[in-house]
Amino acid sequence: MTKRALITGITGQDGSYLAELLLGKGYEVHGLVRRSSTLNRSRIDHLHGTSSLHLHYGDLTDGVSLGNQIRDIAPHEVYNLGAQSHVKVSFELPEYTASTDAVGTLRLLEAIRAAKIDCRFYQASTSEMFGATPPPQSENTVFYPRSPYGAAKLYSHWVTVNYREAYDLFAVSGILFNHESPRRGESFVTRKITLGVASIKLGISDHLDLGNLEAVRDWGYAPEYVEGMWRMLQQDEPQDYVLATGIGTTVREFCQYAFARAGLDWEDHVRYDKSYERPTEVDALIGDATKARDVLGWKADTDAKALAELMVDADIEHLGRLVQHKRELD
Ligand code: NDP
Ligand code: GDP
Repeated sequence: MTKRALITGITGQDGSYLAELLLGKGYEVHGLVRRSSTLNRSRIDHLHGTSSLHLHYGDLTDGVSLGNQIRDIAPHEVYNLGAQSHVKVSFELPEYTASTDAVGTLRLLEAIRAAKIDCRFYQASTSEMFGATPPPQSENTVFYPRSPYGAAKLYSHWVTVNYREAYDLFAVSGILFNHESPRRGESFVTRKITLGVASIKLGISDHLDLGNLEAVRDWGYAPEYVEGMWRMLQQDEPQDYVLATGIGTTVREFCQYAFARAGLDWEDHVRYDKSYERPTEVDALIGDATKARDVLGWKADTDAKALAELMVDADIEHLGRLVQHKRELD
């Protein structure tokens, strides 16, 4: 039997890697895409034409669209990756963030319940739910979110747990620490740094403005993390898991790794800009993924330095191609 999966957020970083993974495993993959004035599908363009991939318009703020898609597709697995995923933006769009990242999950769970289908559910939870609680953070750590994003995701975490307990739904919450890749959104700090390095290296700019350099994050490589999501849904029992590398790195260190890869000294180019500070900061996130290792057989293989280097290489190549293309047009 061909398994059907529905991915919300398929056009995002994780959604694109997960779609590749599931297609490779023979799944029929359905993805929700949002209507926008210009097409926003660059991360899945290379999958265009794949006969097992089906895209549908939908939105986590629109319960009707979710109900219709769940009923029509009747998926065996739902991966809820769609979200307003930027912490700083959530302070500026708190209500929209809550509607998408908190109530959106409830809408989706209700759509699954109403359809009375046998369906496994994955919720994209986040280390931001730990917020101010000091590391190391595991499945047993107390939550203390520090942003509208973290608070909205915490609602989704608990409503996922509640639907598992109340309705016997196979629902799991994957508490993932930061994970990055060349497909990471350009305004997250890792990608902002690696794109900045590439543009300095290619002579397009000479500096990079950043906020807090002291924050510690546990940065892993996104393709490894989507494998962990899939494994969570293949277990006999639904449970929640942390995925992390277990290693903390400061923003400053990530800068050092990234600039050094291009033969540059970060201190010559990075400038402080207060506007990138958040009203409340999360100082340190370092995960303990022991449970995922023991139960799922999952572990992160790529550390922050290797990650910075592969992202810098990809951005230099990507930007280099654009510069070359522009020269040819001039
Ligand atoms: P991205 O920001 O790259 O992707 C977010 C996706 O959600 C995009 O496809 C976006 O669509 C979609 N989306 C946004 N708003 C809505 C909406 N209202 N309705 C439907 N879809 C919507 O995030 P990532 O891939 O990095 O992360 C995937 C998930 O994992 C997110 O929920 C994120 O919060 C969570 N997470 C991520 C971590 C990380 O380090 N990457 C860590 C822990 C959790 P569009 O392309 O149209 O904007
Ligand atoms: P987050 O962990 O989900 O908030 O991921 P981000 O990549 O957005 O931010 C990681 C850390 O980098 C946070 O502590 C930010 O305060 C810090 N940071 C410092 N400068 C910047 C910047 O210019 N942009 C972003 N996005 N974060 C920055």
